[in-house]
Amino acid sequence: MPSNRIITIDGPAGSGKSTVAHLLAERLGIDYLDSGAMYRAATLLALKRGIDPADGETLAPVLEEATLRFDWSKSPPPLCLDGEDVSTAIRTMEFSSQVSEVARQGVIREVLVRQQQRIASEHPHLVTEGRDQGSVVFPDALVHFYLHADPAVRARRRVDQLAGQGIEVQLEEITADIERRDRIDSTRTVGPLVRPEGAVDIDSSSMSIEEVVDVMAGEVESKLSSEEGTSC
Ligand code: C5P
Repeated sequence: MPSNRIITIDGPAGSGKSTVAHLLAERLGIDYLDSGAMYRAATLLALKRGIDPADGETLAPVLEEATLRFDWSKSPPPLCLDGEDVSTAIRTMEFSSQVSEVARQGVIREVLVRQQQRIASEHPHLVTEGRDQGSVVFPDALVHFYLHADPAVRARRRVDQLAGQGIEVQLEEITADIERRDRIDSTRTVGPLVRPEGAVDIDSSSMSIEEVVDVMAGEVESKLSSEEGTSC
């Protein structure tokens, strides 16, 4: 088994990355990192401390000082900010609309990219998902995936997912949020959403979650066996 077993999944909002990444990590028996949760927690921190989410220069040192930790004893690991489990608080709709503003700022990305790389040094067997995990944070990962789907399919899935959590939202509201986040995430200058070089491209528009996980697990297995074949 290679010492670095990092698998990255990048893609636009609502492409199913979180669900798929968690299931793939469980299937492979390795850890799961939700990098989006860290950008969401940075946004929550700004709001709690009364810092304008667009003011990265003020927020970055505060973020560096704060304690942002996943509780690795649970699966998926909840995210704690200064000792408080914020996993539910960071998922609200009102909140989602501000995260891309925080995430577009280079000073914030520097802090969180460093933290993600530190997490990987402590958890070297990891499925990590986000926007820049393959392109910037872990360019040498074992396998890179780029997961996407038709925007209308992504919006419908997100509405169903939130309904499952008892959160009622309008399809139009979610569609607008997804389109806005896609636009900001793809056009920012630092760590934009891109298809990482050499990534396995998966369009999940007409695939079930299980089918996506099966395809990914197959790719990982074939990569591992080809690496075994070349080592001596
Ligand atoms: O994945 P999720 O939708 O929770 O991410 C929330 C936001 O965090 C994204 O819309 C994006 O702006 C930002 N993000 C990012 N880079 C990552 C993960 C998330 O910029 N690696």
